[in-house]
Amino acid sequence: EQLLACRHISKHYHDGENNTQVLNDVSFSVSPGEQVAILGSSGSGKSTLLHILGGLDKPSQGEVEFQGQSLFGMKASELSRLRNRHMGFIYQFHHLLAEFSALENVAMPLLIGGMKESEAITQAKSMLEHVGLQHRLSHKPSELSGGERQRVAIARALVTRPSVVLADEPTGNLDHKTGLQVYNLLKSLSEQLNTSFVVVTHDNALADKMDRVLTLQDGQLSLVREGSELS
Ligand code: ADP
Ligand code: ADP
Repeated sequence: EQLLACRHISKHYHDGENNTQVLNDVSFSVSPGEQVAILGSSGSGKSTLLHILGGLDKPSQGEVEFQGQSLFGMKASELSRLRNRHMGFIYQFHHLLAEFSALENVAMPLLIGGMKESEAITQAKSMLEHVGLQHRLSHKPSELSGGERQRVAIARALVTRPSVVLADEPTGNLDHKTGLQVYNLLKSLSEQLNTSFVVVTHDNALADKMDRVLTLQDGQLSLVREGSELS
């Protein structure tokens, strides 16, 4: 049983007289709990593919299915409900709300989902403990280090217990050592919570930590490695 599948995805951008084909017949799927890395150089179409997988952008051709349901056949309200309930997003620049504390940032998706405030705060605290930030609950993003901010962003993406997290260069603005720590955290949380991860990155060392590695080049996706090299 596949969790998320894209089938024959193509994407063109029309820019005045230019017609750029970014994705050319891309198909792949993600199993429950699986960690997939998509490698590719800058401009290869990684963000475009991730946005299509998350239903944030429409392909020119092809289909994305979540648990067998077609994303682009859904009404906008259904798609947004599916995204809020079952998907988490992590970006290179954390997109935390500057005027809110770490705890409030993490509680936000639960509150938006209609959870009672006291319960949302309890769950947000527990998720921040999971990422090792129990001592930073009332800090605002500007009062946190880059690695800490990214851990808050991870806690926010996971607090709703999504089935899949889509991450776009989640460590792109961190130094290598902090980046590795953040990847190790993502990996162990994925295992503990049985959450699938699709991570796009240009960093081979980070991609190596995931279960399966694909590469995007000239609009096409190919397999680099399947199964773990580590025991
Ligand atoms: P990556 O994430 O691998 O750096 P992107 O998916 O962001 O690549 O972009 C792939 C290509 O598509 C780039 O050449 C980029 O300029 C182009 N592109 C991305 N978004 C748009 C857009 N909205 N309009 C036109 N071209 C775009
Ligand atoms: P990029 O990595 O492509 O340079 P960003 O990381 O700044 O872009 O943002 C990710 C993209 O996803 C943006 O195009 C933004 O509009 C979109 N986006 C971010 N969060 C959401 C959301 N919750 N719902 C819809 N679209 C979103």
